[in-house]
Amino acid sequence: MLNIQSLVFNPFQENTYIIWDDKSKEAAIIDPGCFNTSEQNELCSFIDQMGLKPALLLNTHAHIDHILGNAFVKSRFDIPLHLNQKDLPVLHSLSNVAMMYGVPATPSPEPDIFLDEGHTFTIGRYGFSVLFVPGHSPGSLAFYQPEHKFLISGDVLFHQSIGRTDLPGGDYAVLMNSIQNKLLHLPKDTIVYSGHGQTTTIGYEQKNNPFILEYLRT
Ligand SMILES: [Zn+2]
Repeated sequence: MLNIQSLVFNPFQENTYIIWDDKSKEAAIIDPGCFNTSEQNELCSFIDQMGLKPALLLNTHAHIDHILGNAFVKSRFDIPLHLNQKDLPVLHSLSNVAMMYGVPATPSPEPDIFLDEGHTFTIGRYGFSVLFVPGHSPGSLAFYQPEHKFLISGDVLFHQSIGRTDLPGGDYAVLMNSIQNKLLHLPKDTIVYSGHGQTTTIGYEQKNNPFILEYLRT
């Protein structure tokens, strides 16, 4: 089976996810937010303790809080970085954005693989499908695992909330369209692992998320 662990990193309290196949120990590191030595050590200790073999580095999108650890993870494990091409300008703006927030940042390596709607990747024995869900950022992606019924949603959907759309390339109408036409079509019992905060399910958000309820009313 697949296991998933979240580590909360950096001043933005971002969820970094590690997902691994318990048999082969092959692992993916998703949105590494570790931004200083102590957080980098925390990530590495976890990987060492569990005996994991990182094989993929994935970004749901390229906002600063999700990519602060890209350079570290790439240099430490030498694994391919996956991102949607439309978030390249966001990736390249890291130094400027970091200066604005006063957060130290090492520039991210360039992506090795561009992911898009309909693409798939595997972690050990398990396949994931890639959903293109723009609106929070121009190239936001979500990763769906059908057998375990879970979704890595990035900053598109949160428990009782949705991603902000006031950052460069954000668009409210596009975001709500992504949620309605992609995420809400997933099975209701799909567990949602968000970029910030607690986990939720598609069914719970369909019933209780004030932003979705408001959108569907109009
Ligand atoms: Zn974001």
